[in-house]
Amino acid sequence: MVSLEMDGPYELSDKMVEKQAAPDTPGNYALGYLNEEGTFVVCYVGRSDDELQSKLLSWVGAIARYTHFEYSYADSAEEAYTKECHNYHDFGGSDNLYNSNHPYRKDKTDWTCPRCSFYGR
Ligand SMILES: [Zn+2]
Repeated sequence: MVSLEMDGPYELSDKMVEKQAAPDTPGNYALGYLNEEGTFVVCYVGRSDDELQSKLLSWVGAIARYTHFEYSYADSAEEAYTKECHNYHDFGGSDNLYNSNHPYRKDKTDWTCPRCSFYGR
């Protein structure tokens, strides 16, 4: 069983995002919903290089299926990227997730995916 290694799930609302996720920090998040057993079902994984809270706020109300989120902080944007890649592959990539593309590296970096050596944006 793969794990996101994030906190949550929490309801995806302005109030809960502002309460949980600090602004101005790199971090990772997952969006999804609770199934009938109350288990968080991951639909989408993402990251923010420097503004986790505002990134999450931008998702509130965006897609009806995304009712809950989980999140974690990262010490750097590169750490967030690496974790996003693991989350993306652990949860089946674009075949299984709503992520239509592999995670992109940040501009002006040479980061490559630790799992598939993807390099691009
Ligand atoms: Zn990859």
